[in-house]
Amino acid sequence: MNLIQRGIALIFCLLPVSVPAQSYNYNDPLLDVQHYRFELQLTDTSNLIRGTAFIDIRLNRDAKELTLDLIDMKSDGKGMKVEAVALNGTETGFQQKADRIICTTNQLLKSNTTCQLMIRYQGVPADGLIISTNKYNKRTFFADNWPNRARHWLPVNDHPSDKATVEFVVTAPDHYQVISNGIQTEETNIGNGYTITHYKENVAIPTKVMVIGVAGFAVGYAGSSGCVEVSSWVFPEEKEKGFYDYAQAVDILPFYISNVAKYPFNKLANVQSKTIFGGMENAGCIFYHENSVNGQRKEEALISHEIAHQWFGNSVTEKHWSHLWLSEGFATYLTNCYLEQKYGTDTLHKLLKDQRNTVSRYSLKEPGRPVVDSLEQQYMNLLNANSYQKGAWFLHMLRRKIGDADFWKSLAGYYASFEGKNATTQDFRRSCENASGLNLEAFFNQWLYLPGQPELEISYQLQKGNEVAVVVKQAQKELFDFPLEIEFIGDGSRIRKTFIIREREEKIQVRLQFRMSGIQVDPDTNVLATWKVKSVK
Ligand SMILES: [Zn+2]
Repeated sequence: MNLIQRGIALIFCLLPVSVPAQSYNYNDPLLDVQHYRFELQLTDTSNLIRGTAFIDIRLNRDAKELTLDLIDMKSDGKGMKVEAVALNGTETGFQQKADRIICTTNQLLKSNTTCQLMIRYQGVPADGLIISTNKYNKRTFFADNWPNRARHWLPVNDHPSDKATVEFVVTAPDHYQVISNGIQTEETNIGNGYTITHYKENVAIPTKVMVIGVAGFAVGYAGSSGCVEVSSWVFPEEKEKGFYDYAQAVDILPFYISNVAKYPFNKLANVQSKTIFGGMENAGCIFYHENSVNGQRKEEALISHEIAHQWFGNSVTEKHWSHLWLSEGFATYLTNCYLEQKYGTDTLHKLLKDQRNTVSRYSLKEPGRPVVDSLEQQYMNLLNANSYQKGAWFLHMLRRKIGDADFWKSLAGYYASFEGKNATTQDFRRSCENASGLNLEAFFNQWLYLPGQPELEISYQLQKGNEVAVVVKQAQKELFDFPLEIEFIGDGSRIRKTFIIREREEKIQVRLQFRMSGIQVDPDTNVLATWKVKSVK
């Protein structure tokens, strides 16, 4: 997702905090959901939703009970109340406890078999499905599940490691249009003012991107790219502007298709919505904030970011939230690359400088946090400069280290290995090592598993015979090992030299062909570091 929406910090404060981490053992799970079918009834008379979920589950071990995530009904009347549960078509026992639904049975469910749970429930969602009015005071329903808020309105195994195919069968007042993941397989007006709309997604996706959007939409065909049909779903009041803005997706898609792989889903809908984020990359069905329409195509970077997630985040999904940079760092950096190929290298440098400043400010505020942050239990806190900007900077330094050809080969190889599956940072490292033939363990460790980045104190002294003595000190706690380029400038001449910085203090002696008047550190914006430079007389 993208956080560019203004006032997002305030919005976060008003929200119920995300559900804390759970004890679910994602490395050795008992159950593996194969498919969800959610039948949902929405009305205009109240915010109560009625749902029936059919969940196909594969068991990895013998079991007598099955537990899924679903927020209980609370004293304010919000939350979900389960009315009935059936296992393989036979009604069975259940209890709702600590925001879980525990389905019990007398029979032993055997390992390596599949079963189907039916859960019938109803309630007013406190979160996850945002039922509200849009800026034109029209009633809308928009799912917004990240990081683990699907459980507010759907019974799910709400963890990014358990991916499944999904279908939504939505009964809603017939003045709405319904958008969801996958292909629309039915739209039937059933009378009494209601329509059934059925969508089916055949690619396994994580619960964080399983959504519906229900509103009065203007729906436009934007074009197609590589056999992918692209559509725009916008509020009718700003139809022309919205169709114009969102059609940019058609021009952005080819960059990813040619550099990474075929588009992973069977359609791309771009949807004006009430997401709390700037944008949310829901699979094949991106939700943008409701003020994203302006008629001037000002959201190109946002659209590119969410499109990048279709490959990285939705198709290849981080195995746990702690590897979030595999989604957000990728979407941020690939957007840099998209904008670089469209607008040139200066644009890339400007983006990288801004992102470097953001990382530096963040590490002053939150020292001691690495990019792969397995200690953070409130996943909303992972929406930070480490996951986005530092993740992007890591990819930039990787690209410079292994070269453009091996960089794109690494990304395509990583994608091909984990398409439709889950991956960790170490999986990505191995893909990069395969593509480049280099051992990248130390490189990954220092930038992703250590907190902070180099804080350099650089001094230089002009000596006899055009000699320059340069001292580079690493002032931060952990030592880094990286190449640092310095440009020596003077007398109408300039020359660049690259030095390996490894020790606490590096002393460098340079002989120039001209009288130097100053230096420029990292002239091509290739290292994630901060520095102070002083000239010594
Ligand atoms: Zn994102």
